[in-house]
Amino acid sequence: MKKVIILGSTGSIGCSALDIIRMHPDRFDLIGLQAGSNGDLLARQADEFNVNLIALSSSSASFTARGRHVITGADAAARLVQERDADIVVNGIAGAAGFMPSLEAVRQGATLALANKESMVIGGTFITSEAKRSNARIIPVDSEHSAIFQCLAGESTEEVRRIILTASGGPFRDRPIETFGNITPEEALTHPTWSMGRRITIDSATMMNKGLEIIEACWLFDVDIDMIHVLVHPQSIVHSMVEFHDMSIKAQLGIPDMRIAIAYALSWPERMPLGLSSLDLATILKLDFIPPDEDKFPAPGVARAAMKNPGTLPCIMNAADEVATEAFLEGRIRFDRIIDLVTRTMDKLSGTRVTNPQELMELDGESRKIAENILI
Ligand code: NDP
Repeated sequence: MKKVIILGSTGSIGCSALDIIRMHPDRFDLIGLQAGSNGDLLARQADEFNVNLIALSSSSASFTARGRHVITGADAAARLVQERDADIVVNGIAGAAGFMPSLEAVRQGATLALANKESMVIGGTFITSEAKRSNARIIPVDSEHSAIFQCLAGESTEEVRRIILTASGGPFRDRPIETFGNITPEEALTHPTWSMGRRITIDSATMMNKGLEIIEACWLFDVDIDMIHVLVHPQSIVHSMVEFHDMSIKAQLGIPDMRIAIAYALSWPERMPLGLSSLDLATILKLDFIPPDEDKFPAPGVARAAMKNPGTLPCIMNAADEVATEAFLEGRIRFDRIIDLVTRTMDKLSGTRVTNPQELMELDGESRKIAENILI
């Protein structure tokens, strides 16, 4: 039995991960759960899976412990990882709050099943060096990176010519750019192929999600950013591809269901049956691949530019984007101002340096303040 901690257990990734544990109780021993503020659902999950150590990151959230040991506070997720000796830590926390728990997981030498792409985006240098030191394995859960990880099985990254990240293109792929200022949160929260948390859904609509994924891929697979290409693929069936020096391309295909990628990370190097329906390619009829429209969606270009200073600019970019997407959802800025807010924040903090994870978290906080000030 593998001992598993699920961080962000009340979210979209966390609930899907619990589905898999539910399907395979003989393989996994759930030893810890964490949520942000949804104490009710966390308590129900702890009851169902009989988990006696849980963590709630918001100290103001209400929670009935019912005899369980509860860790609370902003660092609760990292402390949970520290206290329990897990084989696998699934990180499904949303946003930069996932970075310190990821760092703690690799410090402990646990396998990190990583959905929280922000960990790599903002602190890839710290996470990868700590993982090397402790021999911790990082298995991507993000569907594109899981696809690349699967395509690279049995291959050497030295043979890789290009990584081709696919993107659904989001709900506004065909919408005229002149109307972007009128986009409502409800429209932006309607993703054509995936059902996900709020921030990643808005990021998919602006294509900042692809920007974050480009950076995530650089760190996960230790490749140069110029080797990473993006293709819009509206059907979300091909999850990504790898081209090798002999011009052979490997792709990973599947129905758009995150449980496949999560299960792969949990059972690697084996695979587990998940009771899902088979992908019927004949009914899909065609698979489209379209170059991204960089005028309409500048975010991937902003992410590429951020990697000119990989230690700090991606952190500033991510923090500003978290502020901007939240402000959009609250009706405080228009959809077509989100990326502008991000680049303006990056410009203001471009000369910053960080030398350790603590300073990185301070930069995250400072970036949020600057983005909020620009908003006012
Ligand atoms: P959700 O918003 O659905 O869930 C987020 C989880 O994180 C919840 O459990 C939430 O707790 C917790 N959380 C939120 N804020 C904090 C905080 N400040 N400190 C600690 N915990 C917090 O997000 P998703 O599941 O969609 O996404 C999670 C991560 O996985 C993101 O990084 C996303 O980019 C990535 N990902 C998601 C995919 C998906 O299909 N959903 C696909 C690929 C990647 P509470 O419920 O109590 O608020």
